[in-house]
This record gives sequence, structure tokens and C-alpha cells, in this order.
Amino acid sequence: MTKQTLANHIAQMPIYDTHEHLITPAEYVASAPDIIAALFGLNAYIQHDLISAGCSYTTLAAFLDPANPDIAARWHLIAPYWADCQHTGYAEAVRLSASILYSIDTLSAAALVAAQPRQQAYTQPGQYQYLLEQVANLATIQIDAFTWEAPAGAGDSRVYQYDINVCNMVNGSIDFVELATDVGFAITNLADYARAIQHVITYNAPQACAIKTQHAYNRTLAWQLPDEAAVVSVFEKKMRGAHLGELEACRIGDWALDQVARHAATLKLPIKIHTGHFAGNRTMPIDWVRPGQLSALIKQHPDTTFVLMHIGYPYQHELLSMAKHYANVYVDLCWAWSINPRASSEFVRQWIHSVPINKLFGFGGDAFLPTQTVGFAAQTRQWLTRTLSAEVAEGYLSEAEAIQIAQQLLHDNQHRLFGQG
Ligand SMILES: [Zn+2]
Repeated sequence: MTKQTLANHIAQMPIYDTHEHLITPAEYVASAPDIIAALFGLNAYIQHDLISAGCSYTTLAAFLDPANPDIAARWHLIAPYWADCQHTGYAEAVRLSASILYSIDTLSAAALVAAQPRQQAYTQPGQYQYLLEQVANLATIQIDAFTWEAPAGAGDSRVYQYDINVCNMVNGSIDFVELATDVGFAITNLADYARAIQHVITYNAPQACAIKTQHAYNRTLAWQLPDEAAVVSVFEKKMRGAHLGELEACRIGDWALDQVARHAATLKLPIKIHTGHFAGNRTMPIDWVRPGQLSALIKQHPDTTFVLMHIGYPYQHELLSMAKHYANVYVDLCWAWSINPRASSEFVRQWIHSVPINKLFGFGGDAFLPTQTVGFAAQTRQWLTRTLSAEVAEGYLSEAEAIQIAQQLLHDNQHRLFGQG
């Protein structure tokens, strides 16, 4: 009975979701994703496993083509690749969405065709909120819309909160003309740029839950405090419109991240940083994504809270050590359960026995569509139940302690750091 009680608690508790890229409710209704898009579309991670299994981009595009109403024919294109992917974490979340939302036991052409009317019903006004708040049972949802400010038409701000995304400052690609227009003053020297960064952060802070950057997709995570003269020289080169080399982009990016980290400390806004594995295919330099390379930044800013995302997979052991050592390092399991659920399970078990439990966040689906977040949330509930049940079964935790940890990982730790919800 012990396991059952823990399982019930995890199955029923509202989750504080720290990371999604969800489109707005209005965009969801307007785009009316069909059954294939609902499960496999709009940047769904399962696409990357299908490509990895050998599917071509042409076949994938034909499978996803919303202009073709022949759902069965589209499924047949992908079925052989699905067969090879169906047991990965990404696919497990797809299967859970299919089961929960459309009562599909096994994905097939017939099952998808039969589910299409139900998906059409899920695209009606109000269904976006129903899927996320009722079906997935999410209390708070933090969203990175890849912008500084919350998008027009965002959902109720008591539930839907937004990050200030500063990635283009940190990867050095920021357009000074656009930035000047946004902040309302000219940018002619480095001091102006510093003032613009401050403006972007302080102006958006009252509505934001965090600052976010995923610059590991464009440059190494390695950070070092640059010499001011070197930054001025890169700034002037950028002002002349010249292309920046990799090292130069890192230099002005490292300087910008230092500025951002100072404002984050003053405003008490955590900085979320993508660490570890890339979404997509054909792009990842594995040495760029190692989270240990952020140590100098974290040491330099002891009053800034850093949330290192996706457990830095496959370098998750570095985060066990960093979170144990630095009081200002938190770690987020967002997306990690679906990248590799078994590794994430083992990571949580190692964390329990080595790092204070208040600094680990348990869930973020990292999805663009609510139909997909439903599957990711269910996957997290299942795997966290398995993980904590194993701790109880092996005698490390009592059932009451396991329930307390579940409550902290899925809700209370996030609430304590970010407030609200
Ligand atoms: Zn993300």
C-alpha cells in the first residue's frame, strides 16, 4: 500500500512547471493543429529521434504537411521510423499524450484517423487552458517565448509567466539598431549598450519570472570576465558592421552576461541557462554544452541565482557537484525526463543523497503545444513515482519522506524561489 499512496499523491498534485515554449491561446486556436501536429508537430522533440533513426527531412515534412488531409497516408510515411523510436523518452511522451487525450493504446493509421475529430474539439477556445490546467494539472507555467517581453495575447498572468530572453546579448548577435529602437535612445558606445541592457531587464522585470538564455546553441558555455578594453574594441567592430569571429562574439557576450547577472542580483530574478544536449540534429558540438564551464560566472556572482537547465545531460554529474558546492546554483529537470528518463531517475536518486533537496526543480515539458505538454507531465509523474518508490523499497526513505520530496520537486521548491502559484 505504501507505493500506492505515493503514486496517488504524485498523480494528483498540481505541478509548478518551470519551462515551456507554448504558443499563446489565440495562436493555438488559430493554427488548429491536426492530430499529427498535436502529437508530432511544431518543433516536437520526437522529430529529432525520427531523423536520427534515418528518416529524411523530406519524408518528415510530408508527414507533418497540414495541407494534406490524408492522415493515414501521412502516418504510413513515418511508421517504419516510429517503430525504431517508440521506446525513447521523446516517444514515450507522445504515447502518453495519445493515450490520455485520444484513448489511443497503439499508434496506427486507423487510431490517428479516429482521433482527428477529438483533436478538432481540443482546438476550440478554452481548450488550451483545459489541457494545461485541468488535464496536465499545472498550477503555474513559466514560458520562454524567445523575447524580452510577454507576447500579446498571453494567458492569465496568475498562471502563465514569462522569461526575459537575453540570448542574443549573450551570443553576441544582438542588433544595436533594433535595440536602440526598443529602448528609445541611441547606442553609440559601450556605456550606451550597458544602459540598454539595464533598461531591457528593469523594464520587463515586473512582469517576468526569470531571465533566460540558451546561448549554448550558438557558442561555448565557457565564460570568463573579459578585459574592458577588449570589449570596447569588439563593440566598435560590431558598430562598423563587421562580422565578429567566434572569440570576439564570446567576449562581448561574456561581458553582456556579466552585466545581466548584476541586474539579476539587484532585482532578485533568477537566470535560467540552457546546459547540455541540443534539440535538433546535425548541429551539436558536445564540448560547448558542458555546464562545469559556467563555474567562473557562478563564482563571480554569488548574489545571483542560476538555474541550470536540463540537468546538463549528458554531463549531469557535474551539476550534482556544482549544486552541492554553490549556494546560488539550482538545477532544473525540465526536458531531462524525456531526453533520458532512466538517467534522470538515477540523477534524482543521486541528488537526494548528495545535494540539499530545496534546489532541484522537477518539471518543464519544454513544448510548444499544450497537447504535448500533457504527455511530458504524465511522463514526469510516472518516472518520479518509480524513482521515489525505489528509494522507499530499498529502505532509504519512508513513504512520508518520499511524498515530501515529491511535493518539493514538483511544486514547493519552485514556489519558494519564484513565488506565485
Ligand atoms: Zn527550452
